[in-house]
Amino acid sequence: MTTIHNLGFPRIGARRELKFALESYWKGESTRDELQAEGARLRQRHWQEQAGLDLVPVGDFSFYDQVLDTSFLLGNLPQRVRGFQGDALDNYFRVARGRSAQGGQAQASCCGGAGHGHGHDHAQAPSQAEGVKAGEMTKWFDTNYHYIVPEFTADTRFALDASRLLAQLDEALAQGVKAKPVLLGPVTYLAIGKAKDHSDRLALLAHLLPAYAQLLELLAARGVQWVQIDEPLLVTELDAPWQHAFNEAYHQLKTAPVKILLATYFGQLQENAWLAANLPVAGLHIDAINDREGVLPLLNLLPAHKVLSLGVISGRNIWKTDLTAVLDWVEPLAQRLGQRLWIAPSCSLLHVPVDLAQEQRLDAELQSWLAFALQKLDELRLLGRALREGREAVQAELAANAAAITARRISLRVHNPAVKAAVARIDAALGQRASPYGERAPRQAAWLRLPPFPTTTIGSFPQTAGIRQARSEFKAGRIDAGAYQRAMRAEIERSVREQEQLGLDVLVHGEAERNDMVEYFGEQLDGYAFTEFGWVQSYGSRCVKPPILFGDISRPRAMTVEWIRYAQSLTDRPIKGMLTGPVTLLNWSFVRDDQPRAVSCRQLALAIRQETLDLEAAGVGVIQIDEAALREGLPLRRAQWKAYLEWAVECFRICANGVQDRTQIHTHMCYSEFNDIMASIAGMDADVITIETSRSDMELLDAFEHFQYPNEIGPGVYDIHSPNIPSEAHIVQLMRKAAERVPAQRLWVNPDCGLKTRQWQEVLPALRNMVAAAKTLRAQA
Ligand code: GLN
Ligand code: ZN
Repeated sequence: MTTIHNLGFPRIGARRELKFALESYWKGESTRDELQAEGARLRQRHWQEQAGLDLVPVGDFSFYDQVLDTSFLLGNLPQRVRGFQGDALDNYFRVARGRSAQGGQAQASCCGGAGHGHGHDHAQAPSQAEGVKAGEMTKWFDTNYHYIVPEFTADTRFALDASRLLAQLDEALAQGVKAKPVLLGPVTYLAIGKAKDHSDRLALLAHLLPAYAQLLELLAARGVQWVQIDEPLLVTELDAPWQHAFNEAYHQLKTAPVKILLATYFGQLQENAWLAANLPVAGLHIDAINDREGVLPLLNLLPAHKVLSLGVISGRNIWKTDLTAVLDWVEPLAQRLGQRLWIAPSCSLLHVPVDLAQEQRLDAELQSWLAFALQKLDELRLLGRALREGREAVQAELAANAAAITARRISLRVHNPAVKAAVARIDAALGQRASPYGERAPRQAAWLRLPPFPTTTIGSFPQTAGIRQARSEFKAGRIDAGAYQRAMRAEIERSVREQEQLGLDVLVHGEAERNDMVEYFGEQLDGYAFTEFGWVQSYGSRCVKPPILFGDISRPRAMTVEWIRYAQSLTDRPIKGMLTGPVTLLNWSFVRDDQPRAVSCRQLALAIRQETLDLEAAGVGVIQIDEAALREGLPLRRAQWKAYLEWAVECFRICANGVQDRTQIHTHMCYSEFNDIMASIAGMDADVITIETSRSDMELLDAFEHFQYPNEIGPGVYDIHSPNIPSEAHIVQLMRKAAERVPAQRLWVNPDCGLKTRQWQEVLPALRNMVAAAKTLRAQA
């Protein structure tokens, strides 16, 4: 009999109940007990929703982040919060979010505003006397989930505190849940953390393992049989010491009185397959969505007593599973393995929205192609029944599933021959500027007539309460399109007037009309759909609602031209057109599983190219194409970077490089770690790149210096994550450092990122200082 089980469930709640409970607690509007009660309610509901599975994850619930939970479980608290006398949950939130000296939270929101978490370290206010710095935050493998980075030093020691986990386990057992506790594995835990003193994290393994051993004893004492230990590190390239660490860890834990299911996901085991197969554990889970080809070779390596758990339902996308295809593939394996075969989603369902049934506005056809977490569990139960009782037992359900799969495969909403033909016609010339940068630059200079150290901003100005209100009234139908347009135009005019007053050189329209830099474009492109409740946790209480790229992409009409034209009509200074690039649109969406990502990206590139050319035809001389998420899309394995970067850069070039020499193309990226991708960044051939550098004190420009980056650069001089207003002197100092690395005539002066999350009263003085700094630099040049 095949065992069916789940690896993890979204904790945020179908209606984001956890988000609202957390935020109300943080604001002091509800008590700790109320928050705890909401947590218990959600866990109970989620366990009920997983009823019928043979094993249900326990311990996957978290008030902020499962990695931070692990740090607390292991007693690895950052030095700065040790010895805290107050409430333990409060201390947990101090690490999660930081605390300013005044007692408020120190963490500012990310620049994505409506919710795009970025791959960079998360926003922190400078540490203050009695304040607590938030833990650093970074991307969880190749997902858009962000975890709090464990902090280590050479003398980190661990002390198990299993109280939280055991309480949840007791809760589950009392509710009759077939509990399988889930733990983050020791090797991955060390690997994804940071040694603050640059010591060797692996040296801590020997200290860490006793805590795990002790924990497994405690779980066994509760009657637990199986424990899931997540080691996604096994799908990445490992050097010898890390491979060895896996052996050391699991040989030490092998005497534990529980059975260990070692869970790997997000990719392929490849050269780690032998290692993974032979670790002394009772079972191994692999991601059969990403690594289907790896399953048979793995089976040949797997000792005959071990359970093999196959992740056959994608935990990373929102598509219905082709159940018949899965059965065709799995049935022979079930024959061969019998009891030893388990099936599950490929990874935790944390990365998909909760319940498709809540969606009222998706049309029925599209809805019939989709599955969120609850629907994926239904699929799992169905597969389980088919494997145990035969396909006849679930004939009607399988037929309905097959009909939906076929409908999607042949739908004309998905397949647009004209788009496919256009993609097939793409050739190298499409991404090629007419002349090299050295020839274009003087033409642009002659047309734009900018001073040295030109000043600009990254695109958005504050999204004021007024803007948000007008948008929600328009969406609710309380104001009409004309009134909405007038309201947005008034905001654009305000932005333009403020920028003229400030004396900026290249202006922006301010993006008032954009709710979100992906959604705004997705809503206007054919081939994209939007959900009402398709929220996925990004970090803490923050969620994103990725649009669904379901079909061939085309652009029925211009998307931004009227707004930019309006802004340009207000001023003689150049207005910079503002677009989101294809790679970012792709990386922040749920994308198709029926064609390679590269193909979807090329379709997006062609659509954005049309917009770029329309802006140029409307007289816009400077066009910025944001690629905030280009780096985020890097594959987990270095060996796959080259292929990704090749098509990502190609797509940027396609969307940007059809313009004439005198049109200046900008791109913007929300980070500054470019060392390992410098050739690709240069390959994009944007005339100007603006990046985030203010917090790195310009050191991250070293990559550009070493590479001898040939085009213009705007290194951010104003940390938009912080409410602090940079002084003129500070900006001048930063720019001097920049000029030590990049020739001054190729430098721009601009903030780190868009200003939509800030207030006008912060933005104005900061930009005033920025413009003053540019003038000082010019005077000294
Ligand atoms: N143009 C966008 C803005 O200013 C860029 C945002 C981003 O890079 N995340 O808001
Ligand atoms: Zn940015």
